[in-house]
Amino acid sequence: METLDKMDVSGKVAIVTGASRGIGRAIAIRLAKDGVFVVLNYNGSKEACEAVKEEIIAAGGNAVTYCCNVSDFVACEAFFKEVIGAYGHVDILVNNAGVTKDGLLMAMSEDDFNKVLDVNLGGTFNCIRHAARQMIKQRGGRIVNITSVVGIHGNAGQANYAASKAGVIGLTKSAAKELGSRGVTVNAVAPGFIETDMTAVLPEKVKEASIAGIPLGCFGAPENVADAVAFLASDQASYITGQVLSVDGGMGM
Ligand code: NAP
Repeated sequence: METLDKMDVSGKVAIVTGASRGIGRAIAIRLAKDGVFVVLNYNGSKEACEAVKEEIIAAGGNAVTYCCNVSDFVACEAFFKEVIGAYGHVDILVNNAGVTKDGLLMAMSEDDFNKVLDVNLGGTFNCIRHAARQMIKQRGGRIVNITSVVGIHGNAGQANYAASKAGVIGLTKSAAKELGSRGVTVNAVAPGFIETDMTAVLPEKVKEASIAGIPLGCFGAPENVADAVAFLASDQASYITGQVLSVDGGMGM
């Protein structure tokens, strides 16, 4: 277990899971620009996550890093205890950590199905489970879960991933109904194709076919998703809960 230095944080505290790369990195940088103190979670990419922290600090923001596998319920419990013990509050939780293990359904192993569910859906549950108690106590909080257009429409070759992301939508709406009376909003952002490590591995043919189905005619940038997350995490979004906001260039229409 890591130990975080204790300090008084008067502004908002956010936890962003999977903040070492891609969309999570962009979300963390954007929240920090808005003056939020950001706890950058990672699982394997320590150096990359430290680099995100340095980038935030160099730009005048403040952040710390914390290693935790979000699919581990007990490790998540220790993570949230540690953050709450060090900073006293958690105002924003962004459940962004996610993995893919693509393959056609008939060839998909039980292990590949379960691993994707464990991180994408299980990890989101674990973090909400441990953040909610504190947010209820504070009588306020913002939870933003990163789902996917694939969780709405399905996708050949991604049964595990689509199921996990559809699950995140059901979890978002249920949590929104349970936590609304306590001032906690829970929303989801559904990106389409965004240029990150996750999509860099796709064959050119798949990329070309995907772009043909996007009315805005290009892949999105991680910053496009970060802007939507920052809005849902802000005071301006206080009357929005249980919603799924697509950031997909119109591909889901
Ligand atoms: P990415 O570049 O592959 O980055 C994934 C991030 O998740 C990394 O920071 C990684 O940390 C972290 N992570 C993975 N497993 C973890 C675990 N068990 N515990 C904690 N952190 C873990 O992916 P991305 O494209 O930025 O995707 C971010 C989110 O957006 C995911 O939920 C993904 O499903 C969703 N999304 C992406 C797209 C897209 O087109 N890129 C579209 C729709 C939805 P480490 O490197 O430290 O392991």
